[in-house]
Amino acid sequence: MLPADTLKDRVAVITGGSSGLGLAMADYFGRIGASVAITGRSEERLQAAAAHLQERGVEVFTVSMDVRHPDQVDATLAAVLGKFGQVDILVNNAAGNFVVPAQDLSINGWNAVINIVLNGTFYCSRAFGKHWISTGRPGSILNIVATYAWTGGPGTVHSASAKAGVLAMTRTLAVEWAPHRIRVNAIAPGPIDKTGGADHLWPTEEAAERLLAHIPVGRFGEPEEVAHAAAYLVSDYAGFITGECLVMDGGAWLGRNLFTERTPRR
Ligand code: NAP
Repeated sequence: MLPADTLKDRVAVITGGSSGLGLAMADYFGRIGASVAITGRSEERLQAAAAHLQERGVEVFTVSMDVRHPDQVDATLAAVLGKFGQVDILVNNAAGNFVVPAQDLSINGWNAVINIVLNGTFYCSRAFGKHWISTGRPGSILNIVATYAWTGGPGTVHSASAKAGVLAMTRTLAVEWAPHRIRVNAIAPGPIDKTGGADHLWPTEEAAERLLAHIPVGRFGEPEEVAHAAAYLVSDYAGFITGECLVMDGGAWLGRNLFTERTPRR
């Protein structure tokens, strides 16, 4: 989709890069020239992802870390600078999520998701933003949110609340940091196949069919589709775009369809 050298000489850090959308972004960013650092908690998953990426010709570095710990975030930034000497792109993609009625959600469950999604995104953005501001280098941040940031998400109050905060953070930092040549954007994917989200949120055929009935284009999204848009938003082609949230959900959040037949599946 983008020219092969679009991210040449760029270094991208992708949190939660060991599976799903994070891995697809690492793969595509790498194939259009970026050096990529992927992070996650499980060293085993990171190594498996790195082997897959290396087979595809991607220069990849792994850092095992938990975004809930600011000291680990700082250490990750230092490790990436030690390895590549620079960093240009941060994708805040790591997340946790599970379906539970709000009244049954434990305080621990609430805190776990808020800490990963909302606090983790801030810890990473703050560390990288401070680095770019102090060195005078430009930077690009991409936050992966979800449309329930503004529609609400019955069954996922923790994640919906956290994503709403991340969307507000996206727009806030876009303005605060624009004078420092730091752009901050977001993508709100709808249901995407072959991801951890798919495994956890629609694990059965029946759940998948129920969900598909609400997607006007009649199919799930593909991780590569999100990766292509992500690469565009972090690249110089999107140099005048900041504070934007790109929805990629096949029309799902708009699709009330009150007066017509549901779109048949493709
Ligand atoms: P996924 O396949 O489940 O991958 C999640 C990644 O995050 C893994 O690499 C995981 O590795 C890492 N991670 C989880 N907790 C972490 C923590 N505390 N610290 C550091 N890393 C952590 O996820 P996905 O389904 O592709 O979703 C990616 C993003 O897209 C998320 O922000 C999600 O909310 C958003 N999204 C997804 C969908 C979808 O349909 N999949 C829809 C809307 C939005 P470890 O477990 O080893 O730490």
